[in-house]
Amino acid sequence: MSKVFVLNANKQPLSPVSPARARILLTKGQAAVYRSYPFTLILRHVIEAAVPVPLRLKIDPGARVSGLALVNDTTGEVVWAAELAHRGFAVKAKLYDRGVVRRNRRSRKTRYRGPRWANRQRCAGWLPPSLLSRIANVLTWVKRLQRWCPLAALSLEVVKFDLQAMQNPEISGRAYQQGELMGYELREYLLHKWHRKCAYCGKAGVPLQIDHIVPRGRGGTDRVSNLTLACERCNQAKGDQDVQAFLKRKPAVLQRMLNEARTPLRDAAAVNTMRSRLYEQLQGVGLPLESGSGGRTKYNRTRRGLPKTHWLDAACIGASTPEELQTSRVTPLGITAYGHGCRQVCLMDEHGFPRTKPKRKPTKHTFRTGDQVRAVVPARLTHAGVHVGRMASKASGAFSITTAQGRVTDIGYRYCVLIQHRDGYGYLHVKGGRDFLPAP
Ligand SMILES: [Zn+2]
Repeated sequence: MSKVFVLNANKQPLSPVSPARARILLTKGQAAVYRSYPFTLILRHVIEAAVPVPLRLKIDPGARVSGLALVNDTTGEVVWAAELAHRGFAVKAKLYDRGVVRRNRRSRKTRYRGPRWANRQRCAGWLPPSLLSRIANVLTWVKRLQRWCPLAALSLEVVKFDLQAMQNPEISGRAYQQGELMGYELREYLLHKWHRKCAYCGKAGVPLQIDHIVPRGRGGTDRVSNLTLACERCNQAKGDQDVQAFLKRKPAVLQRMLNEARTPLRDAAAVNTMRSRLYEQLQGVGLPLESGSGGRTKYNRTRRGLPKTHWLDAACIGASTPEELQTSRVTPLGITAYGHGCRQVCLMDEHGFPRTKPKRKPTKHTFRTGDQVRAVVPARLTHAGVHVGRMASKASGAFSITTAQGRVTDIGYRYCVLIQHRDGYGYLHVKGGRDFLPAP
């Protein structure tokens, strides 16, 4: 279990405690439950002159999932961790749907409308809403954690690939000059670019070697655009040949390879844009902010022999990473962004016509869609058992609940107990990692 957050009676954050200590505080009546996700206690009496241990929040922003880890820099203990699933792709899909409906609605009335494209422009620094949603999610959680635990510093992985360091290995730091970190930067970039497969035969899951597309002996350079990944067999077979000569009999593969070699990584660029904006925004939080690169993260993680998960990646960000990380007691909290519902009064069909009646306030119960509930259904009913998760409300009082095992439907409201009011996120405790969770 991760540690439990504790607030002083005046709501000042104190040092997190172990689950065992939290249980003692609760059974002795010295504290009450403040929040269930993340589990937070509040003391009943103010402790004067409390000196909480300062913690560092480390953030690994990703396109689908961002990793969060709270690390005690002096002991190397990972105190708490979470994996935050974004709804960037859902935002994009929703905006597309809205665009289709609007287009349809406009073309239904065919009176002449003057062209309007010329008076539309985007202000400087515009970012797509899908990226803004991811940035806002991370900022929300930084601000929340600031209220619940003694945050003293932040670390952010700002660049996935340190492009600068790859082109000029001499630019900064001893690690770069020794070539260790530089190799990580480069390999990560190439693995991403060539989809972790041999570029010539497409074999995956085998050790891949860095190969020069135009061999060095024929004037090829060490620039990234001239590098690719090949399995040992292909690399040996190619030898000192030019790529045109080697792929003479496979023109399709040759064409695809040359195209891919020239295009820079577009999605990596999008992630980098999001990260640099996040970096700017986090500077306004008022805590010392450390930046790190993806290559450094991987270097730190492999040196400590840790598996690749979002939260462990987060714990390994930056030069401040303690020599020994204690991670064995942590179960990361799975956080999924769901947004705060929509303002549409009634649902519509694919042509933009109303499909349902206007929503009404539910009357039989006080639950609202997005609440975290615990339902205990008696054995005589179809969905007997205990279901814990995020519920979707219905006026009829028959809810559906999204649990770690999947969705259960038709749960009567009278069997449900509220665990936590809705706050735009769903929560699940996931051992190991969360990549398999249903997308919002
Ligand atoms: Zn191959």
